[in-house]
Parts: sequence; C-alpha cells; structure tokens
Amino acid sequence: MLIVPEALIADLVSAQDAYDAVAATFAAMARDQAYNFPVVREALGEGRQYGFKSGLDRAGGMLGVKAGGYFPGNMARGITNHQSTVYLFDPDSGRPTAMVGGNLLTALRTAAASALSIDRLARREARVLGMVGAGHQAGFQLRAAARVRQWDRVIGWNLHPEMLPKLAEVAAELGLPFEAVPLERMAEADAIITITSSPAASLMAGHVRAGTHLACMGTDTKGKQEVETALVAKARLFTDEVAQSVTIGEAQHAMAAGLVAAGDITPLGAVLTGADAGRRSAEEITLFDGTGVGLQDLAVAAVAVARARERGLGIEVAL
Ligand code: NAD
Repeated sequence: MLIVPEALIADLVSAQDAYDAVAATFAAMARDQAYNFPVVREALGEGRQYGFKSGLDRAGGMLGVKAGGYFPGNMARGITNHQSTVYLFDPDSGRPTAMVGGNLLTALRTAAASALSIDRLARREARVLGMVGAGHQAGFQLRAAARVRQWDRVIGWNLHPEMLPKLAEVAAELGLPFEAVPLERMAEADAIITITSSPAASLMAGHVRAGTHLACMGTDTKGKQEVETALVAKARLFTDEVAQSVTIGEAQHAMAAGLVAAGDITPLGAVLTGADAGRRSAEEITLFDGTGVGLQDLAVAAVAVARARERGLGIEVAL
C-alpha cells in the first residue's frame, strides 16, 4: 500500500481537483452507483469526538474509510484540532491500497461541496457573499466560492469577532472587499455560507432575503445547529445525502420538529445528473445541507494517490 503523508497533499490535490472529484461522487450517488455506510461518531469526553465515515463507489472503484475527529486540546500541542486519515481498499479483494493524510483533504472536499451548491443553486446574478463563521474551514470555503462566482464583496459575521480579520485577509488575497457586519445585514447577501461549530441557531429567517442560496456546512453531528428551523422549513432543501441530512445535518432539528420530511430534501447529485432542475425561481431560498459524506473523502484521497503514484511520491509499504 502507498502512504501519502499530509505534507504532500497541498502539491498533489488542487481546489479544482476536489471540485471535480466531489461532483463526480455526488453524481455517482444520484445514479445509485455509490453509497455511504452509516456514520459512526462517538464523544470521547472533554470535547473530543472520534468517528468513521466510509462508503463504496462501484463506478469509481473506491472502497474505504476516513477515521478521525476533533481534539480540542491539540492547539496547545501545536497541531490542528481536526485530525483525520483516509484508508483506501481494493473493492474486489479488500486489500488495503493506501493510507492518506486527511486534514487538508477534508477542508478541500468540504469547500468543494459548498462551491458546487453555490454554482448550481445560487442565482446567476449573485454578487454579495455572506460568511457566517471564521474558523479553520472558513478561508477554504471563501476561496472555493470565489472560484465559481464573480463576487463584488464579502460580508462576514462570527460569534468571536476577533477571528474575522483572518477571513478578511483571505478576501483581500482574492481582491474582494470585506466588511464585518451584524447578522441582520446578512439580508444583503445573495449567497451565505455557514461554517461554525454552533450548538444553536445563529442565522434566523429574518436575516435572509428571498432568492438567497444558503450553503450550511458546519452542522455535521447530532446536536449542532446553525440555522433557525423556520428558515430550513421555508427553504427548498438540497443535501449531499438525505440520510445524513435528517440525522446529523442541519435538517435534523426541522425534521424533529415535524417541519420537514426526508422526502422534501433533494440530493445535489440529482441536480448534477439533470434528474432535478434545481432552483425554480428567483425568489426561492435554496439551502444546501452539507453534512460531509465518506465518499467525498475517498474521492479526493484517490486523486492524491493517483498523483503520488504518477510522480513517484509517497511511501510504499507491504502490510
Ligand atoms: P474551528 O474550530 O476552526 O472554528 C469554529 C467556528 O465556529 C468559529 O467561527 C467559531 O467562532 C464558531 N463558533 C464556535 N462556537 C460557536 C457558537 N456557540 N455559536 C456560533 N458560532 C460558534 O472549526 P472549523 O474547522 O472551521 O469547522 C467549523 C465547523 O465545520 C465544525 O462544526 C466542523 O465540525 C464542521 N465541518 C463540517 C464538514 C462537513 O463536511 N460538513 C467538514 C469539516 C468541518
């Protein structure tokens, strides 16, 4: 098997690679050629979370698992709080084929999913991007969104305002004016990305105007919430995977309150394959519930492995 260390990933996988890989995966899921296995996620105490996301893509010849989680004590150790590794296996024999550093890949595949939703569901004339959240993932999200639309400006809100200047730096790098705003001013945005680890809704229905696209990316576990259930109920809902959306995604709370049903949620893959037409009107609020599926991880890890093999990089080991 090939070991592809974290340090190599930045040179092996680009944002465009991640975008293409995630689009292909979502389309394969919509065609029933690929499916995710149920997520395992455990609280280890002291804020630590650990789990497994896995799946099989028959079309892409991918079988594997991402193991990892969130370890809040890591900052003090000088390493990132999110730690993950992707393991790939030969779907025919079950033999391990690769072990790949999964930290940067997670950020790239998550940002790619959000950008894909913006590209397919935001109004063509969208010009103002709203950012709710300013942590590690937020910069990746902003960069990916800038690849799919020509924004005039970016407005941002974060519960911890001291984190916003770092996001403003990313906007400046992209040549985009950035303004820190109160949540009420999110009503100026044509598309809003939420990427926080919040346990309660920040973005309310009154903060969002008609025709906005929301990419809700932070809620990936039971108990997290970024958006008021009334806003979820009001929006036309899309997701990476319906089963995850209603259990660990943003839709979990609206579902529990009886405001939406699984049948109300469309997989983004169906929009990619043309099975669903996507946005229906300029007034509709569209909401992509990006829960993060294992197949996204396998898809970007497979790109890393293919590139590493092409260039003779990585460490080959016999198990
Ligand atoms: P981070 O720890 O770097 O940043 C956390 C962010 O959440 C900051 O903006 C912080 O201010 C904000 N926040 C914290 N507590 C809050 C509260 N009570 N209310 C509102 N905001 C609050 O985390 P990150 O790496 O940027 O990840 C952000 C979220 O995205 C996490 O929940 C993470 O699990 C999730 N995530 C989702 C996917 C996916 O595929 N959907 C992938 C990776 C990460």
